[in-house]
Amino acid sequence: MTVLFVKNYIKLLIICLLVLYPATSHCKKTYEEKRESMVKWQIKNRGIKDKAVLKAMSVVPRHLFVPTLYRSSSYSDRPLPIGFGQTISQPYIVALMTEYLKLEKYDKVLEVGTGSGYQAAILSVITDSVYTIEIVEKLYNRTDEMLKTSGYEKIHTKYADGYFGWEEFAPYDAIIVTCASEFVPPPLISQLKVGGRMCIPVGPPFSIQNLLLITKKSETEIVTDVITSVRFVPLVRE
Ligand code: SAH
Repeated sequence: MTVLFVKNYIKLLIICLLVLYPATSHCKKTYEEKRESMVKWQIKNRGIKDKAVLKAMSVVPRHLFVPTLYRSSSYSDRPLPIGFGQTISQPYIVALMTEYLKLEKYDKVLEVGTGSGYQAAILSVITDSVYTIEIVEKLYNRTDEMLKTSGYEKIHTKYADGYFGWEEFAPYDAIIVTCASEFVPPPLISQLKVGGRMCIPVGPPFSIQNLLLITKKSETEIVTDVITSVRFVPLVRE
């Protein structure tokens, strides 16, 4: 009688394990599946072709850069709050701006507006030389800690007003500004290499801005192209 009971109990246990294992392993895959679908529908489908950008968007776990409260929406087609009144950009805008930088493996890139660190992480998959500046001290501390403990320790971070760029490591092959300025900060132009590219939203705060691509043709010649309309949080001053 007892033997029969034990046998049945073991059978039941095995059935439970067989049913539950695929269910739990499926849960683990959910973020990966969401990311794959984000790259397919939001990024490739809208015309992003640069292989390095597509790879970076496929491998960086965006959900780790999003506060727990919004984590289930990490791969949605929209920006999300990251605290301190700031936002992590919509995935497509991250990919679009990165593609316009035309980064090569050994390029040095400067980002103004570290925020969650997601854009910096994307850049770091493409090149080893990433420099990023954040002006909100508490956000800077939180993100710096997160980057250092999540395998992104090669990213150089700085707590400062990014309006002035990061002179010490200039010039840069590319500059990306992820907050909107009313004009292009002159220090950023002078820290850009000749032949370098800068992607920056320019326009009034809390309104529609133009996403600009600025190409430095020579020390005295700058070419500006409008990429699209965007809405970024403002670049604030110290
Ligand atoms: N790139 C970020 C998005 C950042 S939102 C990401 O991937 O999550 C814009 C960020 O720019 C905010 O964190 C804001 O605090 C920062 N910022 C605003 N003005 C700045 C300035 N003058 N210098 C540096 N960072 C600034």
